[in-house]
Amino acid sequence: MEPHADVLVIGAGPVGLTLAIALRRLSMRVRIVDKASGRDREPKADVLFPLAGEALGSLGVGETIRQHAYEMQGANFYSDGRHVGSFVTGRLDSDYPRAMTIEQHDIERLLIKELTRRGVDVEWLTEATEVCQHGDQVAVTLRLRDGGAQVATAAWVVACDGNRSTVRQRLGIPFEGKRRANMQVIQGNVVPTWPLCDEPGHGYFFLAPYRSVIAFPTPGRGYRIFCVRDDPDPGRTEPPTLDELRDLIADAAGIPDLRLTLTEPVWLSRGRFADRVAGVLRRGRVLLAGDAAHAWAPIGGHGMNVGILGAHNLAWKLAAVHRGQAAESLLDSYTVEQRGLARGVIRDMKLNIMEALLPAPVHRARTAFLKAALPLSGFQRRAEWMMSDFGRNHRKSPLSWQRPWRLGRGPRAGDRVHDGVVVSAGSAAPVRLHRLLGYDRWTLLLAATRADAATLRRLRQACEHSTMPVEILAVASSGRFLGDVEDFKLIRPDGYIGLAAPLSRSDILHCYLTMLGAA
Ligand SMILES: Cc1cc2nc3c(=O)[nH]c(=O)nc-3n(C[C@H](O)[C@H](O)[C@H](O)COP(=O)(O)OP(=O)(O)OC[C@H]3O[C@@H](n4cnc5c(N)ncnc54)[C@H](O)[C@@H]3O)c2cc1C
Repeated sequence: MEPHADVLVIGAGPVGLTLAIALRRLSMRVRIVDKASGRDREPKADVLFPLAGEALGSLGVGETIRQHAYEMQGANFYSDGRHVGSFVTGRLDSDYPRAMTIEQHDIERLLIKELTRRGVDVEWLTEATEVCQHGDQVAVTLRLRDGGAQVATAAWVVACDGNRSTVRQRLGIPFEGKRRANMQVIQGNVVPTWPLCDEPGHGYFFLAPYRSVIAFPTPGRGYRIFCVRDDPDPGRTEPPTLDELRDLIADAAGIPDLRLTLTEPVWLSRGRFADRVAGVLRRGRVLLAGDAAHAWAPIGGHGMNVGILGAHNLAWKLAAVHRGQAAESLLDSYTVEQRGLARGVIRDMKLNIMEALLPAPVHRARTAFLKAALPLSGFQRRAEWMMSDFGRNHRKSPLSWQRPWRLGRGPRAGDRVHDGVVVSAGSAAPVRLHRLLGYDRWTLLLAATRADAATLRRLRQACEHSTMPVEILAVASSGRFLGDVEDFKLIRPDGYIGLAAPLSRSDILHCYLTMLGAA
């Protein structure tokens, strides 16, 4: 029997919605269900970093989100109430050079609108309760809004059903990791009255022993306050009061007469978190994405971002396998890459000194370090690069093929291909490289100066039998971001370099495409 959908997405949070949009962009038949009513969504995350911005941009929704967001321009740092320095953004070469602050429920609203435009409506009040795989189909039992039940079938199911994922539990996939001890995260949306300058995109870090308070303006709604602190009373689970939040900020910022008012709708949250990654992200025709696959404390603000990157990583692979353009093993690279990304974020979170809970002597050392480092342009450049996520890579993925003797010479297989201005052989006008790439195809990139007829013929022949579309793109650039001109780079639909090899080795290109099951 023909399944109801190519892919059934369970959960319409930011990750499920991104995945559904990406799949629709590839003309897949998608159904998306969520047990919630669709109203009263919570703010939760509120920052999109540049790499997630680029991912949403490549799906055609980045610009819309930017129009509703504040772009982060910089931040001032205070320690024990004293100004220690400031940070300015804007050095990154990208269509999305700055992090954007926008509430999660606003992102969800914009993603829902885009998905509707692409012909799919979220089925609210529809809960997945059981999952069963039969041959080349998955049957999911749904509890419907009227209390009835339906068995929906799909060729693939992706569980984006959050931290407590029913699907993950039904499949018996372990959620490995542990709780963060002695740490709570208190958040709220408020309007402060303080002697500081209020400007869109400009935020504040207030650091103190065992406290880290971050305040960033949220479009139209005052500030999002994010506070990491120690946990003297783990039994206390109720949301913080406005006075508790006020005292925390006033103490860390050294502003005793600080006043706060709540914004509407009221959002005050107290959370304790665990760092966990699912043992595998695929069991047969069922995959896990977003918080269902990995979760951690929102330190560094990466939960939603990494989930969105995972959806961007997964959709093109799923479409290629479903259409028989690639071998099923392509989907296993999603597990390797996404688990690697998640583990990297958990590791970085532990090294993030801006949000670490430090005893007084170590806090004083942090202050001295920031005073010395913040004025240095090299430090600012490095910090901005790290914050962008552009350095996150899939170098250890089975999809990343790199000749060992080429190591250390520019971008490597598994890296995000840098953006920058190029001139393509087909047009005289300079354009950003990323605008020439497409989520619906692979791109074979080479330097225009090396694109002679014989080379192009050899490369074309190697791609001839590829079942996945490969576009050959010769570009000229004055920058050195493309690396060695004697190499070609095969760029994946999600913008990562899959293969980097010498131009003369079209045999390796052929081998790579064969490995994908596409040649
Ligand atoms: C209090 C709090 C504060 C946070 N703050 C930040 C932050 O500052 N920065 C940051 O980056 N991240 C933050 N996070 C994490 C971030 O919100 C998540 O990483 C993000 O929501 C993950 O998106 P998701 O789509 O995977 O899952 P979710 O947003 O959890 O969405 C899952 C969806 O699945 C639905 N669902 C669940 N079970 C079923 C079922 N059986 N059938 C059908 N539907 C189902 C739910 O109704 C929900 O809509 C915070 C999280 C919390 C809880």
